Amino acid sequence: MTKHENLIGGKWVSFGNYHDNINPSDTSDVIGSYSYGDASSVDAAVEAARAAQPGWRNATPQARHDLLDAVGNTIAARKDEIGRLLSREEGKTLAEGIGETMRASQVFKFFAGECLRQSGDLQASVRPDIDIEVTREPVGVVGIVTPWNFPIAIPAWKTAPALAYGNCVILKPADLTPGCAHMIAQILDECGCPPGVFNLVMGRGSKVGEALITHTGIDAISFTGSVATGHHIAEVCGKSRKKVQLEMGGKNPMVVLNDADLSVAVPACLNGTFFSTGQRCTASSRLIVEAGIHDAFVDAMTKAVTDLKVGNALDASTQIGPVVDEKQLNSNLAYVELAKKEGAEVIGGQRLELGQTGFYQAPALFLGTNNDMRINREEIFGPCGSILKVSDFDEALAVANDTDFGLSAGICTASLKSARDFKRQAQAGMVMVNLPTAGVDYHVPFGGSKGSSFGAREQGRYAVEFYTTVKTSYIYAG
Ligand code: NAP
Ligand code: MG
Repeated sequence: MTKHENLIGGKWVSFGNYHDNINPSDTSDVIGSYSYGDASSVDAAVEAARAAQPGWRNATPQARHDLLDAVGNTIAARKDEIGRLLSREEGKTLAEGIGETMRASQVFKFFAGECLRQSGDLQASVRPDIDIEVTREPVGVVGIVTPWNFPIAIPAWKTAPALAYGNCVILKPADLTPGCAHMIAQILDECGCPPGVFNLVMGRGSKVGEALITHTGIDAISFTGSVATGHHIAEVCGKSRKKVQLEMGGKNPMVVLNDADLSVAVPACLNGTFFSTGQRCTASSRLIVEAGIHDAFVDAMTKAVTDLKVGNALDASTQIGPVVDEKQLNSNLAYVELAKKEGAEVIGGQRLELGQTGFYQAPALFLGTNNDMRINREEIFGPCGSILKVSDFDEALAVANDTDFGLSAGICTASLKSARDFKRQAQAGMVMVNLPTAGVDYHVPFGGSKGSSFGAREQGRYAVEFYTTVKTSYIYAG
């Protein structure tokens, strides 16, 4: 079986401690064996990154552009191979795996362009004969901690801006999905990334992650993952005054009004709730439906959900791949039981035995629910969605906003006024009109409000806020 090492200071390093990467569609398929590090591995990576920092921050925009552009091109050229690896290790369908791989390529190419578009402000002083320059500088060494559900896109959308703005990086991917992060490291190395500018340390959050967030040689932490881990990281980084950016969970509402076109609303809800096995932080988990369209919507949605084909991620006819692992599957199944206890009528949701050793679950629709139920308050992170019946727009908006989270919120309506009112009043970082709550562009900001996010936005030109710090220079030429 192929063994995979860590990238530290431009060298591939083994720490022993090999972990098998298992395919959730078929647990007899072992993708490879990955060497996991610990706190001393992080020390070595920080030393390498700090040594590389002065050179990289002074590298020309052209040199930074050329590296990121080459990485973007290489990922695109190898999209079928990388997409297949992604689907094997994470379980989303091959089409989704290749799509996510292309997204990573686009992100690297976008930030390649940003290398050439860095600028500052020149202002006149309020005092005579003085000019003021406001310029941006890299933060320094950035620790990146990523979840398993977008194993190539999230590492890409943190690594590419970090490097574009002159920072050095240490990436710790989720322990369930080291393969795609290793692939990014390999491609960066092959494309001529200078030693120490990008470092990969694989391993457990409790060891490698904890060492990164507590290390005094790291200036900033960008994290995507669960609320509990995010809160812990905020506390630790606050104490050591590290800059921190957190993208956490969601409990995203999708409102369907009486005037919605069902041929738009049903596919949007189906996609938003169940695609990628519901394992998206932007997934719609609360479908809030106005009374007049409720029964027709439930009929159409029930049929659409029951027709979804669950199967091996690599099978071309599969629409919904497996759940990522046994632990997540058991957690989802416990929520299905909870839904019944809380009085919901449950369609689907059972474990499926498909003649292969995988973690398959039928998509679950919870009918007749209300917003006080735990199934509507806690993030499930699986192929499960609730329907909540409401009497009018005002109640729909109130229910949509009655949550600790605020990542994405959607509405299906034919009314421009309702769409505008919802857009203005939804407490969420992203609002979707007649579109699924999940599925975003890469050149515009991504992030949420309330409990979903903390710190500067990710992606697009807004990424500059997190990955740089501002310097104000006064120049007297009298
Ligand atoms: P998680 O358990 O919080 O893990 C996220 C990352 O943090 C992993 O790399 C994990 O390592 C690491 N980690 C764990 N404990 C740590 C510690 N003490 N210090 C530093 N790092 C630590 O989340 P997950 O289960 O991988 O992902 C699912 C969650 O991510 C969901 O809640 C989902 O909503 C959220 N998510 C949010 C967004 C967004 O943009 N808002 C996007 C995708 C996913 P291990 O892998 O070793 O545990
Ligand atoms: Mg985890």
